[in-house]
Amino acid sequence: MSECDFCCLPGARWLYIPQDRATVALMSDNGVVTPLPNDGRWRACDLCSDLVDTDDMERLVSRSLITLRILGAPVPDGGLELEHMAMVVMANFATVLAGRPTKSPF
Ligand SMILES: [Zn+2]
Repeated sequence: MSECDFCCLPGARWLYIPQDRATVALMSDNGVVTPLPNDGRWRACDLCSDLVDTDDMERLVSRSLITLRILGAPVPDGGLELEHMAMVVMANFATVLAGRPTKSPF
């Protein structure tokens, strides 16, 4: 089963394919922007896909940070470090919508 690119949990059921590849990029922690691998396609589970479709970036980012922590990633407990991480994650997720993606079953 494929992992969701947003929350990293198994169970991806949707694929977002960007129409504008040029606007799709990934930003690292230190602000370096590189093109997304895999043509900027994002796999999403049912829950994340709902949040993408309703443009609910805030809940999508919190969901991602919570699952990252559950999966053992070093997610800060709070403060500026967490804010920074949330901003980077949000900027990356925003590229999904910036690429005007089409949605198809995965
Ligand atoms: Zn997901």
